[in-house]
Amino acid sequence: MSLRVSDLWVGVDGRDILKGVNLEIKKGERHVLFGPNGAGKSCLVETIMGIPAYKVRKGRIVFDGRDITELPINERARLGIGLAFQNPPELMGVRLGELIRLCGGDEWNLRMAFLGEGFKDRYVNLGFSGGERKRSEIAQLFAMKPRLVLLDEIDSGVDVDSLEAIGRALDDFLSGRSSLIITHQGHILNYLTVDFAHVLIDGRIVRSGEPKEILTEIRRRGFDGIKRA
Ligand code: ADP
Ligand code: MG
Repeated sequence: MSLRVSDLWVGVDGRDILKGVNLEIKKGERHVLFGPNGAGKSCLVETIMGIPAYKVRKGRIVFDGRDITELPINERARLGIGLAFQNPPELMGVRLGELIRLCGGDEWNLRMAFLGEGFKDRYVNLGFSGGERKRSEIAQLFAMKPRLVLLDEIDSGVDVDSLEAIGRALDDFLSGRSSLIITHQGHILNYLTVDFAHVLIDGRIVRSGEPKEILTEIRRRGFDGIKRA
């Protein structure tokens, strides 16, 4: 599997959010994407997934040699692209256990995501805490077994103990798959290793390189400092 995003321009409501993004993820590679609030990180992964609100104005998305830029979301999922949303919706009337089965999984996926027995009968994300929502996303994602795994701020709002557990489960799950991991603070990187890092600011990737180096640079200079350089 490989993903190639070339010169991607994406607009929402007539405003450009992504302004010429280039990104290549090869088989088995793990990439991490950093960036300040509103940079367009969610826009990028949701456009790769095929969320219709985002209009591709220019550029191409190629998955496994096939141009998927115009492909509907369900077909992209069938090809093996999976996304854990930053803010997953509540699904009144749909039980988490049923959804996991629809995704092709079973109760084992709930346990893998550290959700107890009781969660299978609860409506998806209804009354879930922030951390439980993230774990519910992970359980659904694991069930679908995507070949390209897109994780949008999986470490936001998760307490330290859960983060360690999720990080270790992810590290295991991601081996042999390709991934793009969005993290605001970089916390998840304490528990899983990644190959490349990128910084997205104002809809453009302004820096790419070795993850530890880039994280150190962000902590030292801030996104503003990186942008100015
Ligand atoms: P990030 O994930 O990096 O914090 P987003 O990709 O969520 O940033 O958002 C990038 C920009 O696009 C923000 O300014 C946001 O307000 C805007 N945006 C995202 N979705 C919509 C939408 N549906 N309508 C209007 N603006 C949007
Ligand atoms: Mg976001």
